[in-house]
Amino acid sequence: MPSVPPKEAQIRAHLAQRLETLEPGLRLVAEEYVLPNAVGTGGRIDILARDQHQMWVVIELKRADKTAREAANEITKYAELLRRNRGLPADRVRTIVVALESQWRELLAPLSNIARDWRHDLRGYSLSIDEITGVPLSAQRVKWLPEPLDQRLTSIHILYLFGQAQDRDRCWERVCKSAAQAHIADLVGVDVTYQVPSETVRYPYGLYLALGRIDPQLGRPRCHQACNHPVLLADEREDWRHPDEYDALCHVTSQVRGGDLESGGPDIFNKLVQDSRWAIGQVRSTGAFSGGLYEDSDFIAALRGNDGEARTLFHASASASVASRWNLLKQDVMNCLVGNQQWTELMAGWLEAVEQGPGEYDVEIHIYNPCDLLGALIHGLPHNIREYRTKAMPERLAELVPMLVAVARPRDEKAEISVLHGSLQWDGNPVAVQREAETVYPEPSTWLSYQYGDVIRQADQRFLSLLGLWYVIDIQILAPDGSGRYKSVYESTFLPSGLDAETVENAGGLHSLFDFIERYAEDLYLTVLPYRLLFGT
Ligand SMILES: [Zn+2]
Repeated sequence: MPSVPPKEAQIRAHLAQRLETLEPGLRLVAEEYVLPNAVGTGGRIDILARDQHQMWVVIELKRADKTAREAANEITKYAELLRRNRGLPADRVRTIVVALESQWRELLAPLSNIARDWRHDLRGYSLSIDEITGVPLSAQRVKWLPEPLDQRLTSIHILYLFGQAQDRDRCWERVCKSAAQAHIADLVGVDVTYQVPSETVRYPYGLYLALGRIDPQLGRPRCHQACNHPVLLADEREDWRHPDEYDALCHVTSQVRGGDLESGGPDIFNKLVQDSRWAIGQVRSTGAFSGGLYEDSDFIAALRGNDGEARTLFHASASASVASRWNLLKQDVMNCLVGNQQWTELMAGWLEAVEQGPGEYDVEIHIYNPCDLLGALIHGLPHNIREYRTKAMPERLAELVPMLVAVARPRDEKAEISVLHGSLQWDGNPVAVQREAETVYPEPSTWLSYQYGDVIRQADQRFLSLLGLWYVIDIQILAPDGSGRYKSVYESTFLPSGLDAETVENAGGLHSLFDFIERYAEDLYLTVLPYRLLFGT
């Protein structure tokens, strides 16, 4: 007589009596623990247990592929209902999903995602059972999938040049293969074509190539052992933000040659885009950059690095307890703020405080347009001067002015949250806006050439100091009040060096950028007018 495979209920009953198969010290509270319907849904927890630290453990058992698909939904629902119905604090509830090995194919991806970001501890066990009785024999702890790479383009770029258009297509294919050997799976290529009919140039067809990051799972390319081309030396690597990607580019260029090669980088791509003799053509992409998620304009904006338009220049998060990611985040933040000395020093102080604070923090940082106020005014001020005197910052301008927001959230829900908010503030000293603007940017073309020459940040700093505008930060500490809400326990404004608190106090405090705009509406209107006439904005 063929044996019937044991049903989920049978396995559950056996497991409930043998919880130590999963972890020593686990003890049964109830099988099929009923959670009454509280918010439109109820249910039964397969096994509710407690562990040796007196935490409540929600255990879900999955035996069939069909029910395995529900595991992520159920485990999160039960943790929520248990807290909601029984008032258990979040840090007293943890969760376990138990399934047979074959079910883990279905479970691994969704549960890895939950385990990574969820505040409740989630573990998985792969269970072996006696196929006839359903008695658990052993349980293997499941290893969650590593965090996927948050892919983005690096500043490792190069420009291939060709005499014939078809050489460009062939080159792209070979570049993709060669890059894959050097562990680069994600690439963007932009066709650029020189188009001045009267001029004969040897290499009018260009392929501008940019590399994505190497997936740490793939590891550093093996060029230093296996290839003849030069690679970065140990002490040189420290100077590079993406040394492995740079080595990978050397690998590609050693294998794939065009008619000519020119160096690349965001500043160079920017000039190419501005140069009317070069036409930007199709954008090619592979790996994470393919698949239709991005539009060409996303890539062009990323390659340009700084296009003076509103966009998120930087948005990232990391945990201060994961050293490698944390250091990358700090480096990225400082790179993004280059030229903005005031925010750089204030931000460095805050990051250090978070790093050295007690406990584990997740940090999220957003930085917008840190260094070009004039650009923000040209594009963002309303065209009708009456709108300068509304109650709030004009919407378009609000998107463009420099902004810095960072939040450090502790893993421990009893700890305090630190919120940093950066803004431009006016010291209240009267100024002649138009005259000061002309001091720094005598002509609209000066502002343009500063942009292309990549010195706009220094010019911006001069402009702001003449106007009495300062990059300051406000820090707020929020503490849990015990009922699930947070209240502010500390608020303070930090001034950059060069601006002392006494001066600010004597002047009656700082004023918002909007106050400044309201006060100098006519001046600002006249200041941006020639730029607008020239650019047709
Ligand atoms: Zn190589």
